[in-house]
Amino acid sequence: MRKVFSSNEPIETVLVRDALLHGGIDVTIQNEYSGRSAIPGFRPPAEIWVDRDDDYERARRLVVATLAILDSAAESPSWVCSYCRQSNPPAFEICWNCGRDRVDSSARDPNR
Ligand SMILES: [Zn+2]
Repeated sequence: MRKVFSSNEPIETVLVRDALLHGGIDVTIQNEYSGRSAIPGFRPPAEIWVDRDDDYERARRLVVATLAILDSAAESPSWVCSYCRQSNPPAFEICWNCGRDRVDSSARDPNR
């Protein structure tokens, strides 16, 4: 196993993991549920490990591509799930928290 990614952002971790799984790369996440740390206020970053070392180079390229998409999308506003009120990155088409479809509930023009 080799570590290919680590992040303190749960959304980033989910997005990268999904991209790798869709690419046919088996991954294992470490520290995913690290909220209950022994040290208050300290959360070790979640880590994504590829199960097969042979997948590492391809996984690394997928991680870079995924983060680039995330970066370019960061300029658009995030959207709020109308079911669970979770804020989602604009690149997401479904809510990362509850899995429901994105519904354009934007309140940008409430007078219409
Ligand atoms: Zn939701």
